[in-house]
Amino acid sequence: MAGPNIVLKWFAEFIRKGGHRNLTLWILIALLLAVVVALKAPEAAMKFHVGGEVFLNLLKMLVVPLVVTSVMSGIFGMGDVRKLGKPGGTAIGYYLCTTVLAVLVGLVVVNIMQPGGSVDPEKVAEIGRGTVDEESPRYKVAKSIANETGLTMEEVGSVLGGLPPGEARDQNIGDIIENLFLMLVTDNLFKAAMDMELLPLIVFSIVFASVLTTMGKQVDGLKELIEQSNTALMKVILLLMKLAPVGIFCLVAARFGEAEHKGEFVEQLSQIGRFVGTVILGLGFHFLVTLPLILWFVTKRNPYRFMLQMSQALLTAFSTASSSATLPITMESAIEKAKVSRESTEFVLPLGATINMDGTALYEAAAVLFIAQAIGQDLGFGQQLIVAITATLAAIGAAGIPEAGLITMLIVLRAVDLPTEYIALILPVDWFLDRFRTATNVFGDSIGAAVVETTMPKSATDH
Ligand code: ASP
Repeated sequence: MAGPNIVLKWFAEFIRKGGHRNLTLWILIALLLAVVVALKAPEAAMKFHVGGEVFLNLLKMLVVPLVVTSVMSGIFGMGDVRKLGKPGGTAIGYYLCTTVLAVLVGLVVVNIMQPGGSVDPEKVAEIGRGTVDEESPRYKVAKSIANETGLTMEEVGSVLGGLPPGEARDQNIGDIIENLFLMLVTDNLFKAAMDMELLPLIVFSIVFASVLTTMGKQVDGLKELIEQSNTALMKVILLLMKLAPVGIFCLVAARFGEAEHKGEFVEQLSQIGRFVGTVILGLGFHFLVTLPLILWFVTKRNPYRFMLQMSQALLTAFSTASSSATLPITMESAIEKAKVSRESTEFVLPLGATINMDGTALYEAAAVLFIAQAIGQDLGFGQQLIVAITATLAAIGAAGIPEAGLITMLIVLRAVDLPTEYIALILPVDWFLDRFRTATNVFGDSIGAAVVETTMPKSATDH
């Protein structure tokens, strides 16, 4: 039994050498252990959900104060709001370019791999026969989306359509853009904070901090208070990260355990394995090729070292399936490990976590094309173009929460007149693929911070 002995020896050595300092390794071990426990003893694994929930809430608890104080500190660091133009333009340009590139990768992989062809036609027919009663696949899909996302049946019904009691609403690209503008502001800042709607909070923070930068000495106290709160919050994150291996173990064990317990996970994975493989291939390409190339090209940083520096954030994104909840760790890793300037991180990451979602965009485009293939309604070039545009907009509008992409994908399906109930085909594996796309989203945001850093005024990066 030399094998296990070597592992144990290595483990003892790792601990002796102060392995506690190597947090990434611990997180990785926790994650792998969680998957093993979930597959071997699903019922026991599910019991860890309380620990997972506590860790997730601890992270989420920091998000609103962190976003407000960090965006404001970022603006103060720049000194003068007029200096925001170039980095702001670069950030928006970067978000758009990478999202469009991701969508293109999504379309290309599905066109090449044709995963829709491998779906059992009987399964498709079964979904198609559904009527609007509580046993219908359409109803079950809505119920499941509502459960997973925490939305009400009315909210899901308003997008999915044809559901009691919601009303179907056709949305064209104009409506979608209109909604994106409406998402920027709120009539009640506290309600936005309560619902963790970060965009209005970011807009408010930019405006408020900009005004403060014009008020001279009389607001020095207030600015200091905001900056010091921000520094203190970063220290709280550092403390919290010590819990990450345990928190991540609980999160992953509970969710994978639940899926294994239901018995549907491995079965579904093999049923639409080709689709799962196609999505992971596309995300892998964007994660390992497109984004690293952009980073190397613009900043000349070594992309794979950068990936390692951001690994704690990437693993947390995989475990929480939420880029918003991961934000504290993403910011900490970007500043402390990857040494991206504070100003760039404080400005780019909160905004990126909300609107820059490469993984989600890629997934939505790929999934819609897959559904079209599966039901035998292959989309032509024009229709794929509509998918590309709406998937980009839908990803911008998706919140950084688990399975948000599933909701906004309904918009893409409607844009090309595909029946929304066929989302049932991908529903059982969505939570799993969500983890890969969230990690891609977070990596895209982090690279954005490094890219935008190059356009920051010198005084700001020296700050
Ligand atoms: N879970 C993703 C995120 O938080 C969004 C999604 O694609 O569902 O980034």
